[in-house]
Amino acid sequence: MAIEKTFSIIKPNSTLDNNIGNVIAMFEKNGLRIAAAKFTHLSKEKAEGFYIEHKERPFFGELVDFMTSGPVMLMSLEGENAVMKNREIMGATNPAEAADGTVRKLYAKSIGENSVHGSDSAASAERELAYFFEKSDLVDRF
Ligand code: ATP
Ligand code: MG
Repeated sequence: MAIEKTFSIIKPNSTLDNNIGNVIAMFEKNGLRIAAAKFTHLSKEKAEGFYIEHKERPFFGELVDFMTSGPVMLMSLEGENAVMKNREIMGATNPAEAADGTVRKLYAKSIGENSVHGSDSAASAERELAYFFEKSDLVDRF
């Protein structure tokens, strides 16, 4: 299987609950390596731009408010089949539907405050990594 990169955000509910280390441990235990990281606080403009595809959805305002309500951990994760592997580790968007042992089952509060973001395809990963990181920040770990 191919080594690929994906983009991950540890969202404000998990940074505020002190679960950054717990979430990263789950990635590392499953063979993903951190290949870039930035601990930051998103501006309203940056959060709106990131979620622009959801602009017309009824939850857009709530989503942007939440994503700017506390610090976030932005990461490039690298590993075999990283995009799909990360989605498996995260679990379903709605924590009520997330499988046992997933990040969202363990740490999410609601469909909105759901602990993590992960790219949904290799193309999204490339676009999302470029939105937050300089090319020179994106090292290879394999
Ligand atoms: P993400 O893109 O954050 O990894 P996802 O791909 O599982 O999650 P999307 O459908 O892309 O989910 O929705 C993006 C984010 O918008 C979700 O993670 C969640 O935080 C929020 N969201 C989605 N649906 C709802 C909803 N019905 N109510 C509130 N927030 C929602
Ligand atoms: Mg998504």
